[in-house]
Amino acid sequence: MVHLRRKILSFSGLLNQLQPNVRWSSFLKIRDKETVQPDRTFKYSDLSVRLAAPHQLQPKPNVSELGFGKYFTDHMLKVFYYEALGGWQIPEITPFENLVLHPAAKVLHYAVELFEGMKAYRGIDGKIRVFRPEMNMDRMNASALRSGLPTFNGMELIKCINRLISIDQEWVPHLEASSLYIRPTLIGIDPTLGVATSDSAMLYVILSPVGSYFKHHEMNQGVSLLADPRYTRAWPGGCGDRKMGSNYAPTIHVQKEATEKGLQQVLWLYGEDRQLTEAGTMNIFLFCINDQGDKELITPPLNGLILPGITRNSILTLAKEWNQFKVSERKITMAEVCQLLSENRLLELFGAGTACIVSPISFIEYMDQSFYLPTLDHTEPIFRTLLKHLKEIQYGYVDHPWAFPIE
Ligand SMILES: *Cc1c(COP(=O)(O)O)cnc(C)c1O
Repeated sequence: MVHLRRKILSFSGLLNQLQPNVRWSSFLKIRDKETVQPDRTFKYSDLSVRLAAPHQLQPKPNVSELGFGKYFTDHMLKVFYYEALGGWQIPEITPFENLVLHPAAKVLHYAVELFEGMKAYRGIDGKIRVFRPEMNMDRMNASALRSGLPTFNGMELIKCINRLISIDQEWVPHLEASSLYIRPTLIGIDPTLGVATSDSAMLYVILSPVGSYFKHHEMNQGVSLLADPRYTRAWPGGCGDRKMGSNYAPTIHVQKEATEKGLQQVLWLYGEDRQLTEAGTMNIFLFCINDQGDKELITPPLNGLILPGITRNSILTLAKEWNQFKVSERKITMAEVCQLLSENRLLELFGAGTACIVSPISFIEYMDQSFYLPTLDHTEPIFRTLLKHLKEIQYGYVDHPWAFPIE
């Protein structure tokens, strides 16, 4: 069990560069920031580790069979929160195991639950890197505030997660296009049926080796979307801008309708003017020639309807740095998409998120009409350039402060 005999990691220095809860307030657009109390937290220094016995270790699946979220590593992280015991308890790494919950646990009735999705990548130098984890921590705390669940110090969780990854490091795939998906989860576990703040909670983190989210042909042909204005994913004053489980269950039926029509994802519209908000669980980007005749990259603004994606933020930052075309956060309507298409000014439409990174869109079905998009018809589309740059950072081809080596 060579991979279990690991030296204790030293995170000093690198970790000090990251300051969750400070830097990204504009990214998250939360006003209740100050109610995250970084001192009321569990601590990495209290972490206890119980390793799996040799007979508990699972065989590692073949990289070609990975899919998304089907296999899990040998260990997990758990931290309980009990108001009556003073709040957060000590974090523990344990063998991967089932949870035991009271049947009245709030998570099971009122979906008091939130999650994060981030990835660790094995670089060309063999080092494992996590991409902008401090942003996931801030977003997780923002979701916790909206759910009445306890907040914590993001840096402490990053350190615990890094230790977990280090223990299960043999599970980080060696093939590019594959990675280790990290799923932090926070659930309310009070065994009482009142719709109220949960005085007890459980934070846990599981790891899953994943292949590429979309199949190869989807990357070369682009994904197809169903845009049905009868359905909406998020609304003003709601919590579509938080990664809460309750946002996703109602999308499954609509996704099924898309699948039955032979389409791959749902294009989520909002409002009388049918604004494009998201594609499946991805943020959406439009690249076009605008009314002034200039090239412009557009994504909807963080107005409460949009999940503040870390990929979205990274793409906006890179594109602004390149300074080769206009970059805007503004509303996009279906009318505008149709007009741009009819005037041959729509160049590319693509989704962005941790699971797929960047995903070209080549078709939309809207009001029983078919719209073919020329996203894949260009020799050097910007979605490919963006994807290449992000991968170079994630897989360590270039040194970049966004990629955070765990050893
Ligand atoms: C997670 C998610 C995204 C993408 O966010 P990333 O931080 O880039 O992974 C976009 N939209 C929705 C609805 C999501 O759940």
